[in-house]
Amino acid sequence: MRAAIFRKPGQRLELGSIDDPTPGPGELVLKVEACGICGSDLHISDNHDGSGGMPPLKPDSVMGHEFCGEIVAIGSGVDNGLKEGMRVASLPTIGCGRCAPCLTGDVKRCRDARGIGLGDVPGGYAQYVRVGAAESLRLPEHFGKGDGALIEPLAVGLRAAVRARLQPGEHALIAGAGPVGLATAIWCRHFGARHVVVSDLNANRAETAARFGATEAIDASKENVIERYKQVAGARPDIVFDCVGVPGSMQLAIDYAGFDSRVVIVGVCMHEDRIMPVKPVTKELDLIFAYCYLRQEFGLCIDMLDQGRIEASGLITDRVGFDGFADAFEALKTPNTQVKVLLEPDRA
Ligand SMILES: [Zn+2]
Ligand SMILES: [Zn+2]
Repeated sequence: MRAAIFRKPGQRLELGSIDDPTPGPGELVLKVEACGICGSDLHISDNHDGSGGMPPLKPDSVMGHEFCGEIVAIGSGVDNGLKEGMRVASLPTIGCGRCAPCLTGDVKRCRDARGIGLGDVPGGYAQYVRVGAAESLRLPEHFGKGDGALIEPLAVGLRAAVRARLQPGEHALIAGAGPVGLATAIWCRHFGARHVVVSDLNANRAETAARFGATEAIDASKENVIERYKQVAGARPDIVFDCVGVPGSMQLAIDYAGFDSRVVIVGVCMHEDRIMPVKPVTKELDLIFAYCYLRQEFGLCIDMLDQGRIEASGLITDRVGFDGFADAFEALKTPNTQVKVLLEPDRA
């Protein structure tokens, strides 16, 4: 099958051919309908030295962990009702299916967890992908092409809002208007935050946020974020989400936060960073970290989209086939206004 193959750090992805996957016990093979490009893939593809505690990706790996597709093969022992021809979105992790984390939906905690698109199992930048049946959730028939690839980033935002223990009427500030920040804004609005203010150094990105649940956008390149926030909301935020994840962004989030408030770290910073502890101590902040999602959170994203209670398809700003894929991937490494770019393997 065709796949966009990672050869080595710093090198463009290469269009090539690898063996078709076959499903093991408890597994499925999907014909990939769409796979989103994630910021972490961009980072991993340039990770020479294993910085940030992440080992470099093995040569000849296939990335891609935000995908959906149609079931084309089913391994032995799959008895959860999934059938060939059904469209599903899958968590990018295959668990053992028997341990407590697997049974409670927290498959990332499974001791035998294998990541899809991160070196263990080839990912969704390919025509086909092997997934866990227990980690696959059926998509409604009416979902538009590629919508299922948004479930993973939406689930990241949902997890952030859940971890934040967001209450109706609270005031949120979301730093960073990339896909994770926008997904977080969607859920803050959904759960009844009164002010959902998104800031970004890129004015266009901040503006985009207004279409995704933000009640106000701040151009952080021109405006003083917290002064503007106080003008809008009348006080400092109850919750600050750091959806940037670069050195210094955690301290900024702490600086923005009000007394007795919460700071939720969602962006994954892979470099050493420092904070000034006196700030969170004297403010008595709750520092909260959010990572991935539970299977049931994946399911909630599907149901809320299905029922039209969240709107997300506008997050898709471009779609490419294999031919334009390596270029599209590289282009995302420099400043741009894209939100989510999808690979559609069957696109010419
Ligand atoms: Zn991702
Ligand atoms: Zn397990």
